[in-house]
Amino acid sequence: MTDPQDVDTVVIGGGQAGLAVGFHLRRCGRAFVVLDADSEIGGSWRRRWDSLRLFTPAGFSHLPGMPFPADRRESPTKDAMADYLAAYARRFALPVELSTVVVAVDRAGADLRVVATDGRAWQARDVVVATGAHGRHHVPDLAADIDPAVLQVHSGQYRRPEQLPTGPVLVVGAGNSGAEIAVDLASPDRQVYLAGRDVGHVPPLGTWTYPLMRGLGRPGSTLARRGLRGGAEPLGRIRPGDLEAAGVRRVPRVAGTRDGLPLLADGRTLRVAGVVWCTGFRPDHRFVRLPVRDDAGGLIHHRGVTGAPGLYVVGMPHQSSITSHLVGGVGADARFVVDHLAGRPATTAPLATVYTRDGCGRCARLVRGLRRRGVSFAQVDIGRAPGAADAVRAGAGGDATAPTVEIGDRWLVAPSAREVVTTAGG
Ligand SMILES: Cc1cc2nc3c(=O)[nH]c(=O)nc-3n(C[C@H](O)[C@H](O)[C@H](O)COP(=O)(O)OP(=O)(O)OC[C@H]3O[C@@H](n4cnc5c(N)ncnc54)[C@H](O)[C@@H]3O)c2cc1C
Repeated sequence: MTDPQDVDTVVIGGGQAGLAVGFHLRRCGRAFVVLDADSEIGGSWRRRWDSLRLFTPAGFSHLPGMPFPADRRESPTKDAMADYLAAYARRFALPVELSTVVVAVDRAGADLRVVATDGRAWQARDVVVATGAHGRHHVPDLAADIDPAVLQVHSGQYRRPEQLPTGPVLVVGAGNSGAEIAVDLASPDRQVYLAGRDVGHVPPLGTWTYPLMRGLGRPGSTLARRGLRGGAEPLGRIRPGDLEAAGVRRVPRVAGTRDGLPLLADGRTLRVAGVVWCTGFRPDHRFVRLPVRDDAGGLIHHRGVTGAPGLYVVGMPHQSSITSHLVGGVGADARFVVDHLAGRPATTAPLATVYTRDGCGRCARLVRGLRRRGVSFAQVDIGRAPGAADAVRAGAGGDATAPTVEIGDRWLVAPSAREVVTTAGG
């Protein structure tokens, strides 16, 4: 590993989320670098299927400070969006280092250290993870029991109809990707089935619907709760009539397999030549070697602020609103995170991390007390973050059963909210 370069902030990921963070870091005059694994900006958009157009209109598909160069009602193509992102980075002279794959983020004293595959390293006071919500393709386990003669692809691998063999195709998952891919595949020569419940649809996104969605999707709202439970978003650009017109046949959800064929919830099996799984993605933050990850490998955070001082995330679905992962919504979260890191007290002044256990009454009382006193703290549930229990044991003299608080380099076991406030100097 080479000697680390010193910067104020490292942003990992140069997609829309990382670029929006870069815009706000520039505004605050921070010394920063944006690291991206890809060889070009906008790569994640370019790799999506050929016919993809955004379901959000151009008027709402832009980052802070630069409108999308098209009529505001137009649905941009995926390549136009990739071009826009590249132009955005140029316009604000954002320091993006391409072809740089980050493999580790860990602590280096009061700072954080970021290491790339080529051995280069950076030492920073803050790190913002903006690697997107699509790090890993999610496919249900039952896919393994489907006959190997049936070609299976995930929506993240789907590009065009010719990729699938001739014959009927089953698209699993009836959200936006599933509906669009089903229409893309359908032709007079090919029967396409679309499995999954009807997720409904929103009216065409226009001047009033988008701000309304954003408002309705705020934390705690019905829409936000539905999203947090994993509920699919309603259809945007595509209308239910489009599916009908294309000849796509709706079928119930896939409940299992029988004789190597997909088995539907109504007991029917479907003899198909291919399956396209539109069953979602999971973020992949396994390169973060700090005890702030959940069992699935994603970062535990509140509005982008994690339990590790100086570590942030931007671009997560429902980070603050139903529009958080959208190009027109990510700017607000980027701004919140940059304001937080810029206003964060110097590292000698503590930001408390409170480690709690599910069902622990003392933990719940402590957290309530801190909230009442207005203390800025991050909470980590040690049951959900692998490695957190070990970190607590090492830091707090072996006790990982009581509520534990980390303040700078110090650890407190089972303190009252008053003790935390006093120790934190607040
Ligand atoms: C099919 C589809 C259609 C969508 N349509 C719309 C739409 O119409 N309107 C809308 O607003 N939103 C849409 N979205 C949602 C969202 O806008 C996109 O998913 C967008 O790409 C998310 O941007 P991001 O910056 O968070 O992540 P990404 O675009 O995935 O960018 C993440 C970046 O991080 C880099 N990276 C990852 N790991 C590492 C690493 N270890 N080291 C260094 N770099 C790394 C990657 O190279 C990538 O450039 C759509 C999403 C999908 C999947």
